[in-house]
Amino acid sequence: MTSPTNSAEPSFRDSVDIMFNRAVALMDLPPGLEEKIRVCNATYTVRFGVRLRGKIETFTGYRSVHSEHMEPVKGGIRFAMGVHQDEVEALAALMTYKCALVEVPYGGSKGGLRINPRDWDDHEMELITRRFAYELIKRDMINPAQNVPAPDMGTGEREMAWIADQYKRMNTTDINGNACVTGKPPNAGGIAGRVEATGRGVQYALREFFRHSDDVASAGLSGTLDGKRVIVQGLGNVGYHAAKFLSEEDGAKITAIIERDGALQDEAGLDVEAISQWIRSNGGVKGYKGATYHEDGAALLEAECDILIPAALEGVINRDNAPRVQAPLIIEAANGPITAGGDEVLRDKGCIIIPDMYANAGGVTVSYFEWVKNLSHIRFGRMQRRAEESRHQLIVDELERISADASIKWTLSDGFKDKYLRGAGELELVRSGLDDTMRTAYQAMREVWRSRDDVQDLRTAAYLVSIGKVADSYRAKGL
Ligand code: NAD
Repeated sequence: MTSPTNSAEPSFRDSVDIMFNRAVALMDLPPGLEEKIRVCNATYTVRFGVRLRGKIETFTGYRSVHSEHMEPVKGGIRFAMGVHQDEVEALAALMTYKCALVEVPYGGSKGGLRINPRDWDDHEMELITRRFAYELIKRDMINPAQNVPAPDMGTGEREMAWIADQYKRMNTTDINGNACVTGKPPNAGGIAGRVEATGRGVQYALREFFRHSDDVASAGLSGTLDGKRVIVQGLGNVGYHAAKFLSEEDGAKITAIIERDGALQDEAGLDVEAISQWIRSNGGVKGYKGATYHEDGAALLEAECDILIPAALEGVINRDNAPRVQAPLIIEAANGPITAGGDEVLRDKGCIIIPDMYANAGGVTVSYFEWVKNLSHIRFGRMQRRAEESRHQLIVDELERISADASIKWTLSDGFKDKYLRGAGELELVRSGLDDTMRTAYQAMREVWRSRDDVQDLRTAAYLVSIGKVADSYRAKGL
């Protein structure tokens, strides 16, 4: 990780607290409530052994619960060597604020296992994941009603399927067992559109930003996403989907992709799909022929572009490099990519930052849809789709009957019939729910940003909206 080298740089955990404190200073909360909301309720540390390659390997994992103002609590499980208690607690806090902001009815949680998944083969990873899940399940730290994990860095559908299966083996009569974790594969209780959800949410967030010309002008930009030059750091789940959708559907040009072993650059626009395939086969970007390779990948965070999308890990933009960052608009697809110090420098320069708690909320939003689907035991759209199509068919038949009359000179436009007749399946419904969520949450944030003189940035606005909602929920409970 590009760790901040400046000693004045606050840690990730401190950064979240600093940003929280900046927002609550502008609020009028009852005495003590601010502290209650800020602190992390509990963190469970587990050390467990797994017999691998003829010896017992000991692993350390965490599950942190930041706020239980709503239950279950929700948050991903990360597999990475950098995992530690402070990081998990900071990420759990962000989950509380994120869920409140996008109105998904959860408290915040996060988990992590200190491991390099590349060090172990598939079977070994299954043994380790199941054993970690076992430790959490037996303490109700994975449970459909209490604590529902999801994928994060280093984990995906495969790990979620193992966790769900482990839960069901240990709770054979729980009819809602599948809802104990989200991000499962579609054939194991998952939902269409979950894998793409966070990157798709980044796309919807940018589309909504560009619908507000005042906001676009604040970043010194104009027009739409079409032709905008975009730099993406991290071509993993989130970065890949964001880059793919923005370039394929919105006309944006991905001018640089930064990965752990360097960066690729092409001002004419990179082929995201080809680079993603290359990384999958070669483990990194090095050696890819279709673009200029830079060994010092992180330096491209400072390159000229219209939009910078850090989608890898935290702390990559800090006091050290923020003065050199040229992007006028940054959307935080990763959690905590900008430290509190970096944030201050960028704000002073007039850079607009679309904050993580909003920008990457697509994942938890679609996780919420998956959880609801699991609890209702029916796929979205199953009851309505054909009924909707039949009603549309009636109208099309009627229009065709009228247009068959030779005295009336009109016909249906090409493609209308197919588009109009197609009822929404699960994927369309998930995307529609996600789009609505991202639009509504942006509008709530910008309303505060634009209407209050003491709120200078979207991050403070996001905190104000979300802390306000958490505070309301505590008040309603009589706390
Ligand atoms: P991932 O493991 O799929 O991808 C991370 C990518 O970043 C990988 O391609 C990796 O090679 C790259 N990377 C790692 N270190 C790097 C470095 N130093 N420089 C450049 N690239 C580097 O993880 P992900 O699920 O895409 O998560 C990325 C970020 O998004 C994390 O901060 C995560 O917390 C956040 N996030 C993920 C989700 C989700 O649904 N997966 C949801 C919300 C937030």
